[in-house]
Amino acid sequence: MFIRTRIAPSPTGQDLHIGNAYTALVNYVFAKKYRGKFIIRIEDTDRTRFVEESEQRILASLDWLGIPHDEGPDTGGPFAPYRQSERLDQYKRVAEELVKKGHAYYCFCTQQRLEQMRKDQEARHEPPMYDGLCKTLDPHESQERVKAGLSHVVRLKVPDEGTTLFADIVRGEILFENKLIDDQVILKSDGYPTYHLGVVVDDHLMEISHVIRGEEWISSTPKHILLYQFLGWDIPNYAHVPLLRNPDKSKLSKRKNPVWVSWYKEQGFLPEAVLNYLATMAWAHPEGKDIFSVDEMMKHFDLKDIQTTAPVFDIEKLRWTNGEYIRKMDDAKLIEQISAFTHQIRPMNQMRQIIPLVRDRMKTLAEFSSLAGFFFERPKGYERPLKNELVALAKKAFESCDWNHEGMEKAIREAAEKKGVPAKDLFMELRVAVTGKTVGPPLLESLKILGKEEILERLSL
Ligand code: GLU
Repeated sequence: MFIRTRIAPSPTGQDLHIGNAYTALVNYVFAKKYRGKFIIRIEDTDRTRFVEESEQRILASLDWLGIPHDEGPDTGGPFAPYRQSERLDQYKRVAEELVKKGHAYYCFCTQQRLEQMRKDQEARHEPPMYDGLCKTLDPHESQERVKAGLSHVVRLKVPDEGTTLFADIVRGEILFENKLIDDQVILKSDGYPTYHLGVVVDDHLMEISHVIRGEEWISSTPKHILLYQFLGWDIPNYAHVPLLRNPDKSKLSKRKNPVWVSWYKEQGFLPEAVLNYLATMAWAHPEGKDIFSVDEMMKHFDLKDIQTTAPVFDIEKLRWTNGEYIRKMDDAKLIEQISAFTHQIRPMNQMRQIIPLVRDRMKTLAEFSSLAGFFFERPKGYERPLKNELVALAKKAFESCDWNHEGMEKAIREAAEKKGVPAKDLFMELRVAVTGKTVGPPLLESLKILGKEEILERLSL
């Protein structure tokens, strides 16, 4: 079988959701492991939730993450167009075919009637479901009404009896009672399909072999299976992956965790680290490794090994992973990344001296500025008030000392002893006066890089 996978994001949010980035990674890795194709299709049929520029941001975030696609709205491909709003004819054609075969029907119920129906059902504590009124209309009469231009939708005619079954690679067989499945609207009155029709028609026409998506779509799947059966099409393989959770196990939400991929980029996370951490959601490297590349994931990955227990997306663990990537990056690459992130080009020789002092403390690229900003800029304020007398003492001690680690240390210790203050207090005063902060990279090494002249300046209050 030729493997073709896809993600089908809806351009309804600000950007690519981190949960969708996870699904994209799994789809991509699975397709590429078997030398297949990974496709992006934009499901933009819900015009009420459409967000301008969301598509571009989704594509840009996938690009930043390093998940390339073979076919999509920007790259095109043999099954173009890859935007559902440009494929309306296809859905209409299929909806009409379903009506003709007796597997779907036109529904003319007004919004008002549907609302009343829902209220009545609620009062009777019944699940909200279409009551089937238009199903009983004579097909000839329905056609006449359509021809006369009456506003209508097309509904799926779900059998009242029996069950619908599908096999899920991650979860095994899942069975649904047909009587609990609603006569879903598949084509709206504006001529746009609903998700259910759009997804089935496109997955079929685009020859998708494996539908790998979040578990929130499980309850929609029986409707899709019925559509495939009614149309006589082959059913693709399904794999529903678990949703990412906040550390308190609630569904990953904007309130508790940043959810947009662009946020992670802006905070100085590295795309390789984000992908690595996402890879560990619901799947484990067979050798128990925490740090591994996408290529390595590809080598070992199997959809069957995906766990169904809720994976926790813990930003602290992501920070740790990111720190590991920063640690193993070579100096030149790290300097390049920092320059790109901060939009500042700094002298290479100075950067090469600074990097070893801060690398182990950095978990994100953004932290370079807070850790090492004082090398490039005098402190604008101090974390706590300075003790002027001690600063003056340190300055005096430095005026005549050798500008190396030993010389500086000796000068400070002697001055402290003479004054009768603990040396560590004097070192701390020196740190705050030079960097503005009470914690930071190794002090004397930092002073050495800054140079005697600059330090004496900073100590002149
Ligand atoms: N348009 C759906 C979404 O927004 C796609 C779900 C699927 O993959 O079938 O995620």
